[in-house]
Amino acid sequence: MDIRFEEAAALKEKPQGPLGFGKIYTDYMYVAEYDKNKGGWWDQAIVPFGPIEMSPASMVLHYAQETFEGLKAYRTKDGTIQLFRPEMNARRFINSNERMSMPAVPEDMFVNAVRALVEKEAAWVPSGEGESLYIRPYMFATEEGVGVHPSAKYKFIIIASPSGAYYASGVNPVKIWVEDEYIRAAPGGTGFTKCGGNYAGSLKAQEKAEQAGYEQVLWLDGVNRKYVEEVGSMNVMFLIDGKVVTAPTDGTVLPGVTRNSIIHLLKDWGYEVEERHMSIDELMEAARDGKLQEAWGTGTAAVISPIGELCYKGEKHVINDFKTGDLTQKLYDTLTGIQWGELEDPYNWTQVVVEAE
Ligand SMILES: *Cc1c(COP(=O)(O)O)cnc(C)c1O
Repeated sequence: MDIRFEEAAALKEKPQGPLGFGKIYTDYMYVAEYDKNKGGWWDQAIVPFGPIEMSPASMVLHYAQETFEGLKAYRTKDGTIQLFRPEMNARRFINSNERMSMPAVPEDMFVNAVRALVEKEAAWVPSGEGESLYIRPYMFATEEGVGVHPSAKYKFIIIASPSGAYYASGVNPVKIWVEDEYIRAAPGGTGFTKCGGNYAGSLKAQEKAEQAGYEQVLWLDGVNRKYVEEVGSMNVMFLIDGKVVTAPTDGTVLPGVTRNSIIHLLKDWGYEVEERHMSIDELMEAARDGKLQEAWGTGTAAVISPIGELCYKGEKHVINDFKTGDLTQKLYDTLTGIQWGELEDPYNWTQVVVEAE
C-alpha cells in the first residue's frame, strides 16, 4: 500500500530561538486507517498537520484503547539525518497493541511510515546542540459505540516536533521521591506497554512528589511496594559497589530502547549488570553504607537523567554529592555521541534516512 500525499496550502515559519520539548509541530503528519471489515489497514497518507475529525462516541474516548511510541531523528554535523533503532520501537508497538487487543502495525509499515515522514520533514530536523526531531507514533480506537469490546476501527498517526536539548544547562541531577502509596503497574497488567492509561494513572503520584519538592517518582512494585521498578517514565539503574543493578523487564517494567542500549555498552565495557528485583530496603542500606555510587534514569527524551537525591518514607540520601557521576556521564556522552553521529556506531544502531548533501 503506497503512502498518499496531500500538499499543505501553506508551510509554517521555522521557529527561531529555543525549541522546548514537544511544543512545536511540523507541517505534515502521517495517518493510517484500519478497519477490520475492510481487511485491515486500508489507507496511508501524509497530510497537513491539523485537527482530526472523529465521532464523540469513538471508543478510545470511553475505554482508552490507546498506545504510543517515542523516538527521535538526529541531524549529524555533515547534515545526515538518522534514526536510532526504530525497529525496536516498531516491535514494542506490536507488543503494546497486542496487550490492548489492538491490531498490529507490521514492523516494516511502522519503520517505513516514520522514514517517510522524516524524509518529508527533513528541513524540520534541527541542527543545534542537543536538538532533534521528536517523533510520536500513536494509535487509538475510532469505532463508534459505548459497548465494551475491542474496536474494529483504528487510526495510526505519527506527528513530529522539533525539540531542544532536554537539559538547557547541561546534564543535571534530579531529586527523586520513592512512592510508597500509589503504584504504576502490577503483574498481569499493562506495565510493559506504552499505553496512555499507564500515564493517566501515574500523574497523581507525580503531583504528590512535586508538592514535596521532588522532581520525579521512583515506582515500587505493585504487589508489595517493595521492589524498585522505574523512575517517572524512565527505566532506572544503580551503580552499587562497582556493579550495575536494574529491574528485569518481566511484565511490569517498560522495556526501554535506551535501557537495552546502555546494558549493551556496560557489558562491552566489562561491567557486571544485574537485571534483578532489588528491594528498596537493599537500596537504602547501600546508600547508608556508602555503596550506592551513582544512579540514573534512562529514556529517549532525556537519554540519561542522573539521580542526585532519594527520599523514602522521610529518609533522605544524597548520591555522589548531587553531581553527575563519571559512569553516568560516560554513558550519556557515548550514547548521544552515537545518536548524533559524532562517534563510531559499532552496533549498527543508527539508520540513515537522508544522506548528507
Ligand atoms: C518510554 C518509557 C521508558 C523509556 O523507553 P525508551 O525506549 O528508552 O524511550 C521507560 N519507562 C516508561 C514507563 C516509558 O513509558
